Order: sequence, then structure tokens, then C-alpha cells
Amino acid sequence: MPCSYRPPADSRPMSAILPGATLGVLGGGQLGRMFCIAARTMGYQLAVLDPDAGSPAGGIADHHIQADYTDRAALDRLAELCDVVTTEFENVPADSLRYLASKCTVFPTPDALEIAQNRNREKRYAREAGLLPVPNLAINDAHDLSSAVAEVGFPAILKSATLGYDGKGQVVVTTEAELRDAWLGMDKVECVLEKKIELLLEVSAIVARNAISSTCFPVAENQHRDGILHLSIVPARIEPDIADTARAQAMKLAEMLDYTGVLAVEFFVARDGCLYFNEMAPRPHNSGHYTRDACVTSQFEQQVRMMCGLPAGDVRLVSPVVMVNMLGDLWTPDWMEILQHPEIKLHLYGKKHARPGRKMGHFNVLSENVETALAIAEDVFTRLVNKQ
Ligand code: ADP
Ligand code: MG
Repeated sequence: MPCSYRPPADSRPMSAILPGATLGVLGGGQLGRMFCIAARTMGYQLAVLDPDAGSPAGGIADHHIQADYTDRAALDRLAELCDVVTTEFENVPADSLRYLASKCTVFPTPDALEIAQNRNREKRYAREAGLLPVPNLAINDAHDLSSAVAEVGFPAILKSATLGYDGKGQVVVTTEAELRDAWLGMDKVECVLEKKIELLLEVSAIVARNAISSTCFPVAENQHRDGILHLSIVPARIEPDIADTARAQAMKLAEMLDYTGVLAVEFFVARDGCLYFNEMAPRPHNSGHYTRDACVTSQFEQQVRMMCGLPAGDVRLVSPVVMVNMLGDLWTPDWMEILQHPEIKLHLYGKKHARPGRKMGHFNVLSENVETALAIAEDVFTRLVNKQ
């Protein structure tokens, strides 16, 4: 099913928040920074709340409120400054978001955020929306371990239900003893045991939705290294009907959540032919960074449009593209290996300190087809690594 677009009854709805207004973002990382760049380009003012003095977004916003996310006075100040507030990461304490939502408009809503914060909740929700989560069972206490083994089998992956990212908080287990040890190693926190799927490949679909429009970007094919996204290939090299299903399912999920904002949905294309739901993120996503150079509208402009009650921008892909993540492991790269290529667009996040695994930037390779873009991307990446 192709993505639908519902034209607004009135092209400028009463509730639209227009250029000149101030937009807020909780979190000052790279996603917040790219959001600020898109919003500023469109003529909005920006306020960022982030505890880090050197945060990538705080440095380029009109107002950087440097405080903890639980600081009520800071949240009051943000609400005072802003016409609408969003978030750039899902682990903002739900209480803080609820408090903020009692003072000003916040999208996505605390309810939607709370679902995406917990792997068990999001899987339940996805199932209700008609998606197919990987076989799994929630683990809340020691009794659940044996039932989970019976339900899921081995090999399996034990994941903490909350706070995991970039493959953190995950252990592959192949026996019940290993599972027990892994769970004890995680201090018996709420977990999920998931079947370890034989992956053909991984894809993601990024939806933008508000009361007047609903649309979905082209599906990205994602390759990971050590649990961290390495590159995204668009268009994904999958059958068109699988891509259409992924987009339709992501839109269905957003619909069920009555979602306002940008929602990224990760899927596994398994060797058994199934399209499994993996997880969702209530925000723009690393696998959507290709949209900044290769689509008519970027995922960050779309985030601005959704929270401001504006119609979605065109999601059309104007060029095949491969996005390559640049992690701290590569630092400092030989810039000319990238900059000598006219078809490569470099994006850096302004982080002063590099650490292994830390996301420092990315580059998008645009070419006439994905094979050429991928060959250039892999060649440039290999050269960067070899020069370390
Ligand atoms: P994160 O929040 O860290 O992105 P994910 O659940 O997406 O967590 O896991 C990170 C990566 O680990 C996935 O992109 C995939 O490559 C691999 N992975 C996770 N769960 C499974 C699974 N059930 N079967 C096979 N591979 C998995
Ligand atoms: Mg993931």
C-alpha cells in the first residue's frame, strides 16, 4: 500500500505555528542539532534543554538552557520560551515530559514516548497494530526465564527493556544457564528474551504524521557493525511489495498511536521470508540521515512541520544514496578522502571529543544508482580506516 497524504481542509489551519515562533527540543545531541538547523533554515527560533555545556545542539540554538531534564525551573523556562516542544531522544524521564506537557504543547505526547521507551510495551503495541514482532517473552522475575526459553528457544538475545541503544544492554544466549547468568549480570532488571533471527537484511521506515497529514520516507536498507548502524542504502534492495508493506505497517503504527511527529520503525527481513517488527524510535533516526541530501524534504524539516501543525513536505527520493556513519574510532579522519568527491555530502556534529563508538558525523554518497554509491561509500570508508 503506498503512503497516503490527506490534504488539509484548510491549507493554513488555525493551529499552525509559523516561522518566527520559538521551537524547543529536549536533548542537545546530533539529532537535536540537525533539527535546529532545519528549523532555523525555515525561520524559527530555537531553545534547547541539555545538561552538557558543549552539546551539539545547545551551541547553535538561540537559547541553551543548561540543566538536568528533571529540573522543574528549567522545564518552566523552556515552556515559557516555546510555542511547542519536541524531544530528540526517547529516554527523557516520562515525568519531566508530563510536567512539561502540563505547561505547553509537547509532541510526541508523553503517552507515545512511554510506549517507545520500553521494548515489551512497544512489542505489545506493534502486535495490536497488526505488525509481527520477533518471537519474544517479557522477563520480570526468575520464573519467567524458563517460560521464555520454552516460548523463544535458542539462540536468543536477552535485552534490557529500557535504556538500550546501539546494541548496548544486549546479550546473545544459547543455554538456560547462560540466560540466567546474563539476567543476573543485568541486575535482574525488566528484560525481553527475543529469538535470534537469521537476517537477510534490516530495513527501516520513517513516518511523519500530524492531524493533517501522514507520509512515509522511502525504506532504507541498514547494515550494522557491532550493533551500531554502519550504513544505509536507499532505495533498499528488496522487493517493492516488502518495502510497501514496511511503509504501510509503520504508518499503521503511527495511526494507532495517534502520533504527532516523526516515528522511525526498524524491521528485520528474515531468511524465513517474514518481515518482523524490531523496534521503534519516537524521533528522527540515524537511518534517515540520507534524507538530508537525497529527498525533497529531510526528516528534520518534517519534524518541524509535524510539530508546527503544517502539511508534510514531499518525501520523494531525488537520488539513490548511501549514508555512512562516522564513529569516534575513525578520528581524526583524512578529510580529503571525503571532500575530494563532488558526489559526497559531509555532515559533522560539532563534538569536541571522539570516543570509540561515538557518533561524530556521517556522509551521504549520491550517485545514479545504489551499486555505484555503495562502491564509492565502501571504498572511501576503507581508505579512511586504512589511514588510521
Ligand atoms: P538498539 O536499540 O541497540 O538499536 P536493536 O534491538 O535494534 O537495539 O538491536 C541492535 C542490532 O542487533 C539490530 O539492528 C540487529 O542487527 C541486531 N539484533 C537485534 N535483535 C535481533 C534479533 N532478535 N535477531 C537478530 N539480530 C538482532
Ligand atoms: Mg535498533
